[in-house]
Amino acid sequence: MKKDILIIGAGPAGLYTALNTRGVDVVIIEEHIQPGIPKHCAGIVGEYVARLVNNLSNRIVDASYRKIVFTTPMGKARLEFKKPIAYHVNRPLLEQVLASRVESLGHTIIWGQKAKPRGLNTISIGDRDVEYNKLVVAEGPLGIFKKKLIREKGEYLYGFQVLCEADVEEEDGLTIVYSEYTPEFFAWITPVSNGLVQIGYASRNPREKTLLKHVEKYTGVVVKRVLERYGGLIPVNKPLKNPLIHGRIVFHGDAVPLVKPYTGGGLYYIFKLSPILAKHLEEDTLSKYIEDYKTRFYIGSRIEYLATIFSRKTRYFIPVSFVNALYKMGLVEHVDFDKHYRLILKLLGVIPILPFSFLYLNTR
Ligand SMILES: Cc1cc2nc3c(=O)[nH]c(=O)nc-3n(C[C@H](O)[C@H](O)[C@H](O)COP(=O)(O)OP(=O)(O)OC[C@H]3O[C@@H](n4cnc5c(N)ncnc54)[C@H](O)[C@@H]3O)c2cc1C
Repeated sequence: MKKDILIIGAGPAGLYTALNTRGVDVVIIEEHIQPGIPKHCAGIVGEYVARLVNNLSNRIVDASYRKIVFTTPMGKARLEFKKPIAYHVNRPLLEQVLASRVESLGHTIIWGQKAKPRGLNTISIGDRDVEYNKLVVAEGPLGIFKKKLIREKGEYLYGFQVLCEADVEEEDGLTIVYSEYTPEFFAWITPVSNGLVQIGYASRNPREKTLLKHVEKYTGVVVKRVLERYGGLIPVNKPLKNPLIHGRIVFHGDAVPLVKPYTGGGLYYIFKLSPILAKHLEEDTLSKYIEDYKTRFYIGSRIEYLATIFSRKTRYFIPVSFVNALYKMGLVEHVDFDKHYRLILKLLGVIPILPFSFLYLNTR
C-alpha cells in the first residue's frame, strides 16, 4: 500500500498540518484511540493562537488573562494590560475539533495504532508495511522516529499539574512563581473555567506535595481539593537546525522541538508553521520549507535558547526584572508574549539607559 502524505501523531502539529493540506490525500496515524488524550498541556496561548482556535470553535478558549504576576526571590512584578495578553485553551477539545475538521476534509486518521520506522520510504503499523512519498513526524517530544532516524538524545523536564478548587487573588491573572523548589523552571497558577484553578511546575523530579507547599508558601493560595492530575514531557534541548531529512521526512511540533525555549510553549509555532508546511507538502516543495523554518522560527529561537541557557545556569528568574523594566517603560507589547526574542532585542537597545531607568522607576 502506498500513501502520498503520512503524518505520525494526531496532536496539534499533525492535525493542524493536515487541516491545512488540500488537494492531496493525507493519512494520520495515532497510537491513542481518540484525540486529546492523555491530557498534558497547560493550554496557555497568546493572541495569535487564541484568534485562530476561536475561529474553529468559540468554546475552545475558555479563559483570558489581563495580568501576569511574577513572584521571584527578589520580589513581585505585576504586569497589567488593558486587554487580555494570554488565553487558556481547552486542549482536549482543541484536538477533538481539529480531528473532526480533518476527517470532514476527507483525510484519514487511523486511531489506536502505533507506527514504527522501517527504511526511508516505509513505516510499519502492526504487521503491515505502508510506503509513503512524504512523511511528517509529529510524534511529540519523545518518539521512536526521532530516536531511530536522527539518533539525537533529547533533554526534558517533566511538567506536572493539578486541576483543583482553590481561592486565588488574581482571577484574570497568570501567576508565575520562581523559588528554590524550581531552580530549572517555574511554577504557574492559572484560573481556568468553572472557577477551577490549574497549578503546575516543571522539574526533573516533580512531586505534588512539593508543588502545593511551594505555591502556598509563596502566593498564599491554599488548595482545597485536587480533582485531576496530569502532565508530560517538556523538551529543553535545542531545536533541529534542519528538520528535513532525505528530502521527504520532515519533523514538526515537539519532535523538533518547535517550542519557546524559556517556557516550553509549543502551540504558537505549531499554529504559525503548520500552514506553511502544508503548502510545501501540497506543492511538493519541501526543500523550500527550510527557508521558512529558519526565518520564522529557528533564528529567533536560537537567540531565545542562548538567553534561556544563560538564565538556567545563573538564576532562571533574572529576566523578570528586565521584562518588568521594559514594561514600566511602556515597551512590552502583546506580540512579545509569543516572540520572546523581541524582548531580548528591545533590552539590548535600552541597555545604555537601563541603570538610569532602574533608578528612576524605583523612585516612582
Ligand atoms: C506540562 C505541560 C504544559 C504545557 N503548557 C503549554 C502551554 O501552556 N502553552 C503551549 O503553547 N504549550 C504548552 N505545552 C507544550 C504543548 O503541549 C506541546 O508543544 C504540544 O502538545 C506539541 O504538539 P505535538 O503535536 O507536537 O505533540 P503531542 O501533542 O505530544 O502529540 C503527539 C501525538 O503523536 C502520537 N504518537 C507519538 N508517537 C507515535 C507513533 N509512533 N505512532 C502513532 N502515534 C504516535 C501521540 O500519541 C500524540 O497524540 C505544555 C506541555 C506540557 C508537557
